[in-house]
Amino acid sequence: MSGWLSRWRRQRTLERRPIPEPLWQLTLARYPFLAARSDADLQALRDMTTLFLSKKEFAGAGGLEVSDEMAVAIAAQACLPALKLGLQWFDGFVGIVVHEDAVVASRQREDEDGIVHAWDEELSGEAMSGGPVMLAWRDVEDAGESAADGYNVVVHEFAHVIDMRGGVTAALESVDPQSERGEWVNALADEYEAFADAVEAGEETFLDPYGAEALEEFFAVASEAFFVAPAELEAEQPGVYALLRTFFRQDPAGART
Ligand SMILES: [Zn+2]
Repeated sequence: MSGWLSRWRRQRTLERRPIPEPLWQLTLARYPFLAARSDADLQALRDMTTLFLSKKEFAGAGGLEVSDEMAVAIAAQACLPALKLGLQWFDGFVGIVVHEDAVVASRQREDEDGIVHAWDEELSGEAMSGGPVMLAWRDVEDAGESAADGYNVVVHEFAHVIDMRGGVTAALESVDPQSERGEWVNALADEYEAFADAVEAGEETFLDPYGAEALEEFFAVASEAFFVAPAELEAEQPGVYALLRTFFRQDPAGART
């Protein structure tokens, strides 16, 4: 598609399907970490949220009706990590499935001795490569309050979507196109290992200990804190904060200055 045509489509969507002002203001009031941005960022976020809503399909599970309020809340939080990277990072999927509450998933794993371990896992969100993103509305709704703990299910799942677009190499394309496995990923892996060691040693961590599960989870968990409790993350884990600032091309701790 040529440049002017895609720009025209974008402009038409923004003009024809604007988010009503009261609904946008309500969203900012409910999720103060969104409101704590410069006016220019907020305008860009509003435009991106509008385009996101025109491209993605929301479905409620178990009879849940996804209201405009819910869709805008999810879309705005989802767009936050993509604000400077661009909406094309979300091109790999269309559907967003919203459940009323956390979903219990049956998990199974065979160990090296051939013994199958089965357990139930409670999921407040899940992102699959090419598949829909699943979210529990209860956790999304609580995101205003849970921001103090650096917790945000929407940012977590959409950080996975961004990561899955090219694995950790997506980071390299963004940060260091010349490098096969650049300094950025190595530095993140070092932070991850130090974090996993701290969790294993039983230390109190600002980041959710779940981030010790795997490098991808560490990236998603750290991204949550980066966007909803940036000052705390910068104070607790300055190295991680700096890496995410480079990756997302945003500085939310100093956003208003
Ligand atoms: Zn995760």
